[in-house]
Amino acid sequence: MKTMIFGSPGRYFQGHGLLDNMNEILHPFASQRIALISDSFIGPKLEDRLRPQILAGNAKFAAHFLDGDLTYAAIAKLVAALEDFKPDLVIAAGGGRGIDAGKSVAKHFDTRLVTLPTAASTDSPTSKNFVIYDEQHQMAGVEHLPRNPDAVVVSLDMLCQAPADLMRFGIGDAISKKFEARQCFKVSGNNMFGARPSRAALALSEICFDTLICYAEDALATAGTGQCTEAFEAVCEANMLLAGLAFESGGLSVAHGLSRGLALYPGVVDTPHGYQVSFGLMVQLSLEREGAADYKFLWNWLGKIGLPRTLKELGASLPDEDVQKQAANQILSSPHLQNFERKLTADEIVNAIRNISAP
Ligand SMILES: [Zn+2]
Repeated sequence: MKTMIFGSPGRYFQGHGLLDNMNEILHPFASQRIALISDSFIGPKLEDRLRPQILAGNAKFAAHFLDGDLTYAAIAKLVAALEDFKPDLVIAAGGGRGIDAGKSVAKHFDTRLVTLPTAASTDSPTSKNFVIYDEQHQMAGVEHLPRNPDAVVVSLDMLCQAPADLMRFGIGDAISKKFEARQCFKVSGNNMFGARPSRAALALSEICFDTLICYAEDALATAGTGQCTEAFEAVCEANMLLAGLAFESGGLSVAHGLSRGLALYPGVVDTPHGYQVSFGLMVQLSLEREGAADYKFLWNWLGKIGLPRTLKELGASLPDEDVQKQAANQILSSPHLQNFERKLTADEIVNAIRNISAP
């Protein structure tokens, strides 16, 4: 039997006013040179809140922000800007992009890493991997840190101001985790540590799903208003902590593997990752031997939440047959496709993508 691995961030903080109490959170790391890395939209606001605190704590502080996608060229620019400062701790802040930018810098300097999400739009804050894009906004690679973040800081008063759509992206990404982890567990496949998934990860993926079914609709109703309800808090935990642990230690399957090739379909490239996964989940369930009941349930639920279920709802269209086949072959080359109950063919994938419709 293969070895089992379960990984996680060192600490997960979720509460009110955490952004103004960062020194307490950072204290155990005894860092002297702290760099804030974020995107250029939210970064300057975070810098205003963080710089006085960090300086008051007698550490040095630097801040650098990413414009556009996280490309290899963008990483080189961030790293060059910090070459003299030599951070020993990176605060990676923002949505997926800002956090991934911070992870790339932490990897280069081999520093401590604290993630500070500003929206519950992705599970990147808890995980050790980050996604790099090319100049055409296509996924160019997934890189891994040697360790998970040392701490994840979810400051709710900031997150409840973020637009509801951002939370919806995160729900689309999180809702599939139970079905992907289940497939990976079934075939004793590889999780993101290249190891066998544990029962703990499987259980977390189920709690993630149950939490979203129970609270997502109510959470979306108040998201962006500044109100922080129990439902909102629960969905923050599901989208970031539960979904992150579930995919990293539980493994991914068809729903995520699909995004490797789906980008060849016209209209897909600029759609959010969570929307692609929501559609990908419908494709996965249509291919599962016993997926019919879940397919029916999710069709109704995703519709209610406003998540895409078909190519049309995703804003995409069918390319010609050669391209459909090429996309299917790219999807089949994803390692996540190994985590499925049977070996799929390109024709099955082409047909599944085309034929998703009301049950
Ligand atoms: Zn994802």
